[in-house]
Amino acid sequence: MSYIQEINDVLSHKYASEPEFLRAVREVLSSIEPVVSANEDKYRQNAILERLVEPERIIVFRVPWIDDKGQVHVNRGYRIQFNSAIGPYKGGLRFHPSVNISILKFLSFEQIFKNSLTGLPIGGGKGGSDFDPHGKSDREVMAFCQSFMNELYKYVGADEDVPAGDIGVGAREIGYLFGQYKRLKNLHEGVLTGKGISYGGSLARTEATGYGLIYMVNEILSHNNDTLAGKRVLVSGSGNVAIFAIEKAQQMGAQVLTCSDSNGTIYDPDGIKLDVVKKIKLERRGRISEYLKEVSTAEYHEGERPWNIPCDIALPCATQNEIEEKDALNLINNGCRYVVEGANMPSSYEAIHEYRRNGIIFMPGKASNAGGVAVSALEMAQNSRRVSWTFEEVDKMLHRIMADIYSKVSSAAEKYGCEGDFMAGANIAGFEKVAEAMMAQGIV
Ligand code: NDP
Repeated sequence: MSYIQEINDVLSHKYASEPEFLRAVREVLSSIEPVVSANEDKYRQNAILERLVEPERIIVFRVPWIDDKGQVHVNRGYRIQFNSAIGPYKGGLRFHPSVNISILKFLSFEQIFKNSLTGLPIGGGKGGSDFDPHGKSDREVMAFCQSFMNELYKYVGADEDVPAGDIGVGAREIGYLFGQYKRLKNLHEGVLTGKGISYGGSLARTEATGYGLIYMVNEILSHNNDTLAGKRVLVSGSGNVAIFAIEKAQQMGAQVLTCSDSNGTIYDPDGIKLDVVKKIKLERRGRISEYLKEVSTAEYHEGERPWNIPCDIALPCATQNEIEEKDALNLINNGCRYVVEGANMPSSYEAIHEYRRNGIIFMPGKASNAGGVAVSALEMAQNSRRVSWTFEEVDKMLHRIMADIYSKVSSAAEKYGCEGDFMAGANIAGFEKVAEAMMAQGIV
């Protein structure tokens, strides 16, 4: 039995109740197969795969908080410190009712390779809670964040573990978390990224994931002698990643037709009006259906995803498994040629199979959404050096990092005989660096 098969078998028994994690591991292991075969003895001797799939530490804790009516609620908090071979643990916090161990293990496992691809010294982690910030007052969100940090502060630090935002955790939540950490530890250090500019945040961090995604799209298109100008683009989601992906895509001349939230999709044949989306989402924390009140020519497709609308490029920017097999087939049949992921693992296994079968150019999230964590690492660098770079400086570095990720991913795919398979290329390039660092540091 092959080394990879052995690991898969053990994991399928041990973690049968963690489908998202198992899928993420299987995907990575199957694409690094050529590297593992070429180095099997060395990797077996160092138990590289056994250690790679086991988190260094999982922290689970109770988060009690009191709502505005005086009622007590209890949520569950998590931090998964998966791999610190190449740097301190780094990865976002997600506040969403769906959060569980399987989802956080998949996200933190993916984060290891994503962080490695950025070329910056950051390990893989992820955390969060099943708390739902929707409909909560600012005071309730603050109460929750403070209680969450009352436990988390013991395990994080500027050189230890540096969380950031993710779904449900934006500037407001990062501010409350940072304030409580500072109060508990009496330390003003870069323990979180995505901070406000007035207290140690980096310019361009808010925009970084969305902008970085479009820099990646641009890179892919230019290697296919094409440009974004005039391209019909579908975006899902209307959160941090989606908003700034739309902004940069429009700046580069694309026609963005959709955005969405978990209730439905807005289709604006004249192009999404981003000022309207920003007003609804960033100022009012409203629902995307409110777009119709201001743009009567648009359509609202309740309960639907954007993927049945004709397009050239699809950018899933909401959540995992939001493009299933039928959605992928809709995209393909309606002329889509590129799928570039802004969210983490938005395409199901079957959807990716359809992309491959139909010659769709596909870039996985761990490469194409790495701009967010890359600028987070630049925020860490600025905090350590007590300096602030300009927006233009950070944006230029982000652009260079995304181009560099593209070339690492495509040359790794080429080197191992899977040219054009960017998923394999991303996994191989991310893995090689981590494996080398793990071997150098002995059995830890
Ligand atoms: P936000 O919370 O800002 O926005 C999430 C968006 O996705 C919202 O519009 C939300 O709608 C929608 N959404 C969430 N869950 C679902 C669902 N089950 N079905 C349909 N729509 C849903 O999150 P981000 O924009 O920060 O993150 C989006 C994705 O990008 C995630 O996969 C995240 O892991 C990934 N990512 C984020 C990075 C960052 O820097 N923020 C970095 C790298 C990856 P609603 O309001 O209705 O819930």
